[in-house]
Order: sequence, then structure tokens, then C-alpha cells
Amino acid sequence: MSDKPRLRFAPSPTGYLHIGGVRTALFNWLWARKTGGTFVLRIEDTDQERSTPESVQVILDSLRWLNLDWDEGPGVGGDHGPYFQMQRLDTYKRFAEDLIGRGLAYRCYCTKEELAAAREKLKQDNPKAAFTYPGTCRHRTDQPDRPYVVRFNMQSVQRESTTYKDLVFGEVTTPNSAQQDFVLLRSDGIPLYNFGVVVDDITMNINLVMRGRDHMVNTPPQILLYEALGHTPPQFAHLPMMLAPSGEKLSKRHGAVSVGEYRDKGYTPDAVLNYLARFGWSFGDQEIFSRAELIDKFSFDHLGRPDGRFDARKFADVAFEHLKRSELTDTESYAGQVRPFLKARGLGELDEAKLRAAIPTIRERARTLIEAADAMDFYFREPPVFDAAARDKFLTADAVEHLEMLAGVVQAVEPFDQHAIEQRVQALLQERGLHIKVLAQPARVALTGRKVSPGLFEVIAVLGRELSLARLRAAIELARGNAG
Ligand code: GLU
Repeated sequence: MSDKPRLRFAPSPTGYLHIGGVRTALFNWLWARKTGGTFVLRIEDTDQERSTPESVQVILDSLRWLNLDWDEGPGVGGDHGPYFQMQRLDTYKRFAEDLIGRGLAYRCYCTKEELAAAREKLKQDNPKAAFTYPGTCRHRTDQPDRPYVVRFNMQSVQRESTTYKDLVFGEVTTPNSAQQDFVLLRSDGIPLYNFGVVVDDITMNINLVMRGRDHMVNTPPQILLYEALGHTPPQFAHLPMMLAPSGEKLSKRHGAVSVGEYRDKGYTPDAVLNYLARFGWSFGDQEIFSRAELIDKFSFDHLGRPDGRFDARKFADVAFEHLKRSELTDTESYAGQVRPFLKARGLGELDEAKLRAAIPTIRERARTLIEAADAMDFYFREPPVFDAAARDKFLTADAVEHLEMLAGVVQAVEPFDQHAIEQRVQALLQERGLHIKVLAQPARVALTGRKVSPGLFEVIAVLGRELSLARLRAAIELARGNAG
């Protein structure tokens, strides 16, 4: 086994990718990236009723959108494939046969009906007792031609309890009496979760398993399987849960829980990862992290045990922070991410230089990429959409001479930049004893169609001389018309 960590994310493709799952994927990915280890993606698709190819696609798309790249797995390949459990049935069979051959597992021919009857009988004899498989087939030597499941033989386990050292929760000991002869393989050859996971983790050389603490109950039987199969168990790190604000399991009822919803809301992937990183991990009281910083700072020293509660408002604040700060979302990346949202508004053909110039003017104003696309709409739409009330209020006869003054500046000023335009306008206003107020709102409405926008001179600089002039002239015409 290599010394470097080999980690995996093993989602079941039964719907969307839940943000709790992403937190697990993220921690595995961070540790792999930090240590130069390997991050494996494995699809646990044994739930034939609920697994769909569409869900697999959603998982792959979501992880790709988050830039959580995997080194082995679907679409990437690797030396330990296939990476879909349903394509590994012969491997599970081989491992099960090995255990049977050594008396550590056995074929159980009990039918569902027989087990149901035994359960019912127990209930009558002792209503409070929990049913465990009575071991009917444990010592059976014949092999009738009937369907069978493969069960683990707990009697082959000599020790009273199973102990492991969790990297987060410390030493955990569970009495082996907690386990019954659990099923490894169903009669159709499909493994149950514990067996499939262990066989996969062994054959994929996984040496560190990081997953939600809801799986802690599975760890002792998994360790028993490692031992039965003659392999050293990996290290385990169980992560605290992401809960709803009420303390319940976080589900759709509590708001958006799928990655896709946050993408569609206009959050950036780095913001999503930043927010999720804080569930179970902390670094002093720092809240905002770039992707590179997460990799740099992530470590087991800062993993905690308390469950976290999902806070939609905090998440939104983190998303905003990522859009605000150019060191977190630089102009290039911002442009790439906001483009689809502009396109969705019908603004397909974009002047890229203008887009890059527009971004700094709206950073402080847009909490999401949807808001960013809205805030930038007027830069690209010809004519801009007019707020009718603002137009009637500000583009009036009184405004004409001020708009003309501004148009004069825009036409002649050199160099054509925000600073020069502003200086020239302020000088003219002073000469004429006018306050900027008389100009600001009419000009804003003329240039943007709106009452609220980035600073007037920034807007002019981004729009450029020609477009600003054209919009001012159109507004002057309109204002004259308003004079009747
Ligand atoms: N398929 C399991 C899940 O989605 C994986 C659990 C594990 O990591 O062992 O929860």
C-alpha cells in the first residue's frame, strides 16, 4: 500500500448531490490535494430501485462544477476500476467465496417467509425482544439448489469487542454482541453496503475513510470484515453532521440542499465549498477562505466533533463575500461565471472588454451571480430597460440643459476615463453654480434606465464615449418630448 493517502467519496446515485455529501467529498478532496494523495470517486449504485443514470450524471456534473476533481473514477479511469459497484459483482462473489471457504461466512437458505415467521414467533413470545438471525444455516453443509444469501459468521469472531481509533472521535469500542450474522451478499449477488464498501476499499487500496458520523454504526462490522479478509483496516475519520437549524436531519424541507440549487441561485463553487468547510472544521474564527487557503490550512488538528447547524443567511453572506473580493473571484473568473446568467437574460453576444470593465462596478452590489447579471444588464442592453417612474420623474424639460452639458463633456473630454470625466463635470458645475444633484439622477436614468446603479462616472467610463453619448442624446430627446 502506498504511504500517501488514498481517499474516496462513495455517493449513492439516488437523486441530487446533497450538500452534506459535498462536505464529505470536500474534506476527502482537501486532504488528498494537501498531501499529494489520491482522491477516488466510486459510485455505490447497488440500490437498483433508486439508482439512476441521471443521478450519476448529476453527481458528476455537480462535482465538476465544484471543481472537486477526482484522480480515479468515472470518466477518468484508474488502476482499480471499475468504479461502479454494479460492475464489480464478480469481485464481491470472489471475496464471499473465500470467506465461505474458510468458515467465516456461510450460505443461508432461509426464505423471507421463514424469517418473517420466526420474527413473528419471537414477537409473540417476547414482544420487547429485537429479532436477530438465529443462525439456522450456520452449520449447514449441504448446498441445495435454491437461492441463498451469504451471511457473516459472527461465531468465528474470537474477540468480545471491536476497537478503533477514530481521527476525530478518538477511541471507539463496540461489543461484538451488537452484531448478528449480517448479510454480505443477497441472493441476486448484489452486496449489502458493509460488504461492498469493505471489498471496494480493500481492492482500491483506500487507507483513510472519511465520512459522516452517521456511518459510525457501520464501522465495527466493517472492521470485522477487514480482519476476516486478512487486511488491515484503513484509518477512519468520522465527520460531524450538518443539521437543520431545528437540529433535525437537513432535508429539502429546510430549504435548498442540492448543489444544483446553489449553482442556479448564482453562488460560486468556491463560496459553496467555503461555507461547507466550516462544518466540522475551523481555523480560529476565520470565516472566509479561498480554495487554495482551504487546502493550505485544512488539517485533522482542526476537525471538531460538534454537529453544525445549517444557516442559510450565513451561507448567503459567504457567497456575497466571494463575489465582492477580487482575491476570491478575480475578474476573469467572475466573467466566466456570470456569463451564463447574462445569457439567460437574453444577453448572449457580449463585448468581453466591457464585461471585464463592468465587473468592478457591481461587485459591492451583487450578492449572487443572478443579482450581478441584473446589475449589469443595462451595460449590454440597447436601449436599457427604463424604469418608467424614474424616466417620468427625471427625464424632464428641466433636465435637458444639464444632460446637454454632460453630453458635451463626454464628447470632448480627453483622456476618456472616469477621473477626467468627473473632474471636467465638477468644474463645469462649479462654474455654473450648480450642485451635482441636478445632473446625477437624470444622467443616471438616461444612461442606465434605473434610479440605482454604480457611480455615474464609472458607468460612463465602462459604456464608452459613443454609447454614453447615444444614450444621453436619446434621453435628451425624450426629455424634450416630456416638455410637451
Ligand atoms: N454510499 C454511502 C453513502 O452515500 C457511502 C458511505 C461510505 O463512505 O462508506 O453514504
